[in-house]
Amino acid sequence: MSISGKYVGRLAPSPTGALHLGNVRTFMIAYLRARSLGGKVIMRMEDLDHPRDKAGADLQALEDLKWLGFEWDEFYRQSERVDLYREAVRKLHEKSLIYPCVCSRRDVEAAQSAPHEGDQLYYPGTCRGKFSSWQEAAKVKNSPCWRFAVPSQSVISFEDVFASYFSMNVSRTLGDFPLARDESGAGYTLAVVVDDLQMGVTEVVRGDDLLAATPAQILLARHLGAEKIPEYCHVPLVVGSDGKRLAKRHGDTRIASFRERGVKPEEIIGFLAASCGWCEKGESVSLENLLPRFSLNTINHSPFVVDDKIFQGG
Ligand code: GLU
Repeated sequence: MSISGKYVGRLAPSPTGALHLGNVRTFMIAYLRARSLGGKVIMRMEDLDHPRDKAGADLQALEDLKWLGFEWDEFYRQSERVDLYREAVRKLHEKSLIYPCVCSRRDVEAAQSAPHEGDQLYYPGTCRGKFSSWQEAAKVKNSPCWRFAVPSQSVISFEDVFASYFSMNVSRTLGDFPLARDESGAGYTLAVVVDDLQMGVTEVVRGDDLLAATPAQILLARHLGAEKIPEYCHVPLVVGSDGKRLAKRHGDTRIASFRERGVKPEEIIGFLAASCGWCEKGESVSLENLLPRFSLNTINHSPFVVDDKIFQGG
């Protein structure tokens, strides 16, 4: 948290599917963290992923969150902020910090010479310096992407509020990472960084599947001239009994389905709060009543395992 200013947190759902227990646990932690520090909560709909976005999923998610007791102070949609991303692209391109790339995933894989961390592909910079503009690249391939020209020896280290110390040599691990598949820059990496800075987010609380994506975001933020970069707090995900990230095959854990079956919001919040050590198993509790019990210290560092029998008496 910034010592001088107010805490600003954000919830950033992507409307790619229905809100489920996994998303809600992370949002609950982010929300209570902000409120317990007297902070502001921003709701940011990350609706730029057009091929994966599902019609109506945004409104449904907002309704589910309200039903669960979440309240927010500001609301944004990334799809309405494209001019800001375009401006960032213009600045970065002017400084030769980004370039259009026409390599396919297969090209990138073929150029892979050494194993690299996680599932993020290393990109050796094949297209760096090849095209002077997006239009020129688009003549070679329909859908180029913007890549960040990572300066050599870009080592990013930070102290994650939950996951502790994390460090990555971005130039060696990721190489020139992709920013967006859209000429305007409307894509996850660029948009999330521009938005967190522009909205004055002081701490990003999110799932730890994004921990390894953070060094690239910090590097980009620095090159966008950020005076203050947010703190990061990555919390464990909810997984199914097979240890994999919660998905459809683990059964129906959609909030809307629980609601249809007559489950109360306090039962859902209580169930998730118990997994964070803030109440007893089986206790019903509202988000608001959790505020005085909130602590990051009681949250287990391993993923929370659920199965589909919950709330069915199973
Ligand atoms: N919208 C992203 C997601 O739902 C989260 C992005 C972030 O928290 O930085 O996966």
